[in-house]
Amino acid sequence: MPANYCEQPFFTSADIAGLRADTPGCETVTHFNNAGASLPPRPVVAAVKAHIDLEATIGGYEAAATAKARIEDFYPAVAELIGATPGEIAYIENATRAWDMAFYSIPFKPGDRVITGRAEYVSNFVAFLQLKERKGIEIDLIDDDENGQIDLKALEAAIGQKTRLIALTHVPTFGGLVNPAEEVGDIARRHGLLYLLDACQSAGQIALDVTRLGCHMLSGTGRKYLRGPRGTGFLYVADGILDNLDPPFVELGSSVWNDAERFSWVPGAKRFESWERFVAGQIGLGVAIRYALDLGLPRLEARISGLAAQLRQELAALPGVSVHDKGLRKCGIVTFNVEGEDPQETKERLSRQSINTSVTSATSSQIDLPARGLSSLVRASLHAYNTEEEIARLLAALHG
Ligand SMILES: *Cc1c(COP(=O)(O)O)cnc(C)c1O
Repeated sequence: MPANYCEQPFFTSADIAGLRADTPGCETVTHFNNAGASLPPRPVVAAVKAHIDLEATIGGYEAAATAKARIEDFYPAVAELIGATPGEIAYIENATRAWDMAFYSIPFKPGDRVITGRAEYVSNFVAFLQLKERKGIEIDLIDDDENGQIDLKALEAAIGQKTRLIALTHVPTFGGLVNPAEEVGDIARRHGLLYLLDACQSAGQIALDVTRLGCHMLSGTGRKYLRGPRGTGFLYVADGILDNLDPPFVELGSSVWNDAERFSWVPGAKRFESWERFVAGQIGLGVAIRYALDLGLPRLEARISGLAAQLRQELAALPGVSVHDKGLRKCGIVTFNVEGEDPQETKERLSRQSINTSVTSATSSQIDLPARGLSSLVRASLHAYNTEEEIARLLAALHG
């Protein structure tokens, strides 16, 4: 990519051709499963393969020593992506464990309350339920407003003496909604509350800045909109709250063993990490983040949400197709149903024509889809390398 690539406000058709040429998967599939795992660009695939080859050639520890700078670049890359400092970043194998390391570090007492919304990710919500059983915490579930995003007035009204945490999912896995994360951050700031943001689906498709978001902890994954390798993720924890957290596990990489009686935590967010890890993946995620930063996040968001808006509009115009995305602000995830056809069957029918979509079901959104009378939905999630021609292919395949 040219160095000044991100200074252009939008992608030209030549840019899109370049993006696609840089994405080997574009030759074989029409990939609308970017919220599952997107197609990685060549530099990411090359970086991961090169490190695995190096490990096989000279030994894993020796390869890590040789590639130290590439491995370490992960931290400033994530920091730049979200407006943090490198010391506030931890490498973690996926977004779920990243979120868990933050959540289970909070010293909850019986009766403490967690405020959350209807878009919350399944694994986060079952963690609330576990600590409800184990520690007696209570969950305050905030309803949606008339636009389908978290109701900010109801959220603020729910805050009380026992509120210990606001936990929000920025973009749900099961729809196009973008929750008003910055406005929630303002409320958290006004009330001096801890704020944990699940940015798993927004990282890579929406510009994130932890100062503007006002969150103290933020989790993300590598393989979704960031286009990194599977089995990679990250956690941000603000320096200022480290003393209030007690990580659920300790090990050699996260601590210093002082003597037979004592240990201390290493400085910064590295106390949430495991020493052993997928090193090639860490390098690959760093490269993927640099790739996204070079393209420019505002430009990526404009492209992705623009394509998705077009798809939503054209789907809604098809007879027998209903679109189900909520929210005032929407992103690259589009959900719909074809009348009289099970979403799984729709997905398989599209797959036979090399069009990748996925199915999102009530078992992973027990407080959202059932309340809307839905049991499952087809999910088409778009990325910047998708095209208007691919959207036309999808519509033609659905129609046929
Ligand atoms: C996918 C997803 C997660 C979990 O990410 P993993 O990397 O699979 O652990 C968390 N939150 C949301 C909103 C997601 O979509």
